[in-house]
Order: sequence, then C-alpha cells, then structure tokens
Amino acid sequence: MKIRILGTTAGGGLPQWNCGCTECAAARRTGTARHQDCLAVSGDGRAWYLVNASPDLRTQLLATPELAPAPGTRDTPLRGALLTSAELDHTLGLLTLREAAGLTIHATAAVRHALHHAFPAGPLLAAYTTADWHTVTPGKPVHLDGGLNAEPFALGGKRPRYAADLPDGPDWVTGYRFTEDGGAACAVYAPGLADWTPAMDRAVAGADLVLLDGTFATPDELAARTSGARRSPGMGHLAVRDSLPHLARHPGPRYLYTHLNNTNPLARDTPPELTAAGAAVAEDGLLIEL
Ligand SMILES: [Zn+2]
Repeated sequence: MKIRILGTTAGGGLPQWNCGCTECAAARRTGTARHQDCLAVSGDGRAWYLVNASPDLRTQLLATPELAPAPGTRDTPLRGALLTSAELDHTLGLLTLREAAGLTIHATAAVRHALHHAFPAGPLLAAYTTADWHTVTPGKPVHLDGGLNAEPFALGGKRPRYAADLPDGPDWVTGYRFTEDGGAACAVYAPGLADWTPAMDRAVAGADLVLLDGTFATPDELAARTSGARRSPGMGHLAVRDSLPHLARHPGPRYLYTHLNNTNPLARDTPPELTAAGAAVAEDGLLIEL
C-alpha cells in the first residue's frame, strides 16, 4: 500500500488568506505553507484514489508524480475519490476533477445528498464528466481497483454549515480503514474525530499507520488566538491534548496528526509529549509505503 499525503491543514490552509495570527504570520515569513487536507492511496501503486478533494487539489495533483498521466495520453492513475465528510475543504476540489474521462466517488448517503442539493457538486460535475457515485455504509468495506479495500466507520453527525437545514444523522463524518488484498498492511484515516469512540478503538487496533484529527492542539485554541469564541468540541474536533491519552491505549501504529487549523502551533513545533506518545505531525508531500 502506498499513501501520499497531499495536504495537512483544515479549511483555509496555512496561511489562511485573511488571517494574521501568529502561525499564519510565521508561515508567510518562512514560506512554509501547507495545503488543505487530502490524501492519495493505492493498493498496487498503479490505481490511486483520493481521500477527500481539497480546494488546493490542482496544485496537489501537479506536485504528485504518481498521479501524472501516461505520456501522450489523458489516462490518469486516478480512479476516483472517497469522502470523509461534505465539508467544503473536503469537497470543493471535486469540481477541479471535471476534466476527468470518468470518476468514481464514494460517500455516505448523507454526504451524497448534501453534494446533490445544498452544494450541488454532483449535478455540476455531470455536465462535464461521468461521475459514478457510490454510497458507502459504515462497517461495510468497499473493494477498489488495485486490490485496495476501504472500510468506512462512523465518526459523527456534524453537518457542514451550508447543510444546516438537512436532516441530522450519524454518517455525516466517517473515517476509513484501508487494507489490501492478500497483504497485512493497514492504514486508518480519521481527519474529523469529534470524540474517541469504540468505532475508533476498533479501527486503530492492528493498524500500521493512523492519520488522525489534529485540527486544534487544545480545546480553547481558536478562542485564544482569534476573536472567535468557538471551542473545538462544538466544532467536531477532539483536540490533540485530549486524543493523546488514547494513543497510549493502542501502542504500535505510527500516529500522524493532520487537518491542522492555521491557529495550531503544532504546525511549527512538535512538543515532547507528542514524541513520547509515538506521534508526529503529518507533512505535505510525505510518501508512506506499508
Ligand atoms: Zn491564522
């Protein structure tokens, strides 16, 4: 299994265009920008799937040699995308894929509904390409090209703000547990972890790699660093400080925090408690082979 990390920040990226917080200012000063959360994964190194489609997708695709088309053709190794949520930072990039000859898009029923009504990416894409939409159900693995298997697991009911009028439900946010046919490698991707649930316990058991929600270092980070008053628990993100103790219960996997908000100081400095827990912060462009 091959995994290429395409982006590691929450919506807005780092720096965010309108933000002058300490971290955004440092990123501007040092030229250390990070793209928005997105992943590419492959079972055989030939057929690739995106997990989420960030607003930075074009730049991310061009920076990824594995996803380049074959010379003289428009044949691309990219087969499609799996979505962990309907949030704009995970779905706006779908429109960037409109030049594709065809795509498969995997998402839960709630996310599919949002992407055909409140944010009609599905109907928009249909005017440009053949997008084959598949409903994923938590607990039911999906078999993908290249011998890759993706098992979705439910992570919460937080709807995007644009979809506030749509029905509540448990499958608005999912993670994926990736395995491969005939191989032992296992990777877990959970960029939107509202709480550490039994489903998360089951997902990380026996995994080699866990990419997890690092949106905020602490619950009060956003309120402390900007004029906003929102706290991370109400935003569907378990702070790193509060997920770290769970890592100790599941030693073994390589833990990488991703989906960092631009206010998160972990984007610049890895504190000793993270290292001690066997964790680090994911970096844009990192290629991991399991
Ligand atoms: Zn900022």
